[in-house]
Amino acid sequence: MYRLYHYVGPPEIRERVSKQPPGRVVSSAADVVRWIEDTEQAPGAEGYYLATFVVDHEGALRIEDYGHEHVSCAGGGPVRSAGVAWFDVEGAVVEVAKVSNQSTGFCPEPTSWPAVEESLEAAGLEHPGEFTQPIVFRLCPHCGQRNIVKDEWYYCGVCDGELPADWNFPSQRTA
Ligand SMILES: [Zn+2]
Repeated sequence: MYRLYHYVGPPEIRERVSKQPPGRVVSSAADVVRWIEDTEQAPGAEGYYLATFVVDHEGALRIEDYGHEHVSCAGGGPVRSAGVAWFDVEGAVVEVAKVSNQSTGFCPEPTSWPAVEESLEAAGLEHPGEFTQPIVFRLCPHCGQRNIVKDEWYYCGVCDGELPADWNFPSQRTA
């Protein structure tokens, strides 16, 4: 059973990307290599290929150019997880060197890792076994701002209101 995360970002962004196709499904290392070739990806400073990813509501791993909206990558639907992946590519061998749940569109919990792990293992991709850059998101109950909590500082960056200890975005569980 996986928690499903619904889009919690600005409605105008969802509207803007609603006509775009969802992210490409990755079910093997070859899919990542093909994506890099087809979309002419260039490696970043560390030599890794960055991608926006989601695990969609059916468990498929989908990727798009880094910086694209997660809601676009998900085709507008809910997700089991979302974030950023750093692919280490040596010829036909693809590993996930680093991975984060950083998605301000879905604000998934670090505990969504098992959904990511399952999709990476289904695709035969080695991975670090956890989010290497876990992000803690909280919705400010006072002003509605989506916050990234750093250094255990549970206060809103906009209104200084106290943020709850528990994850507090609208969600539902899969059956
Ligand atoms: Zn606030």
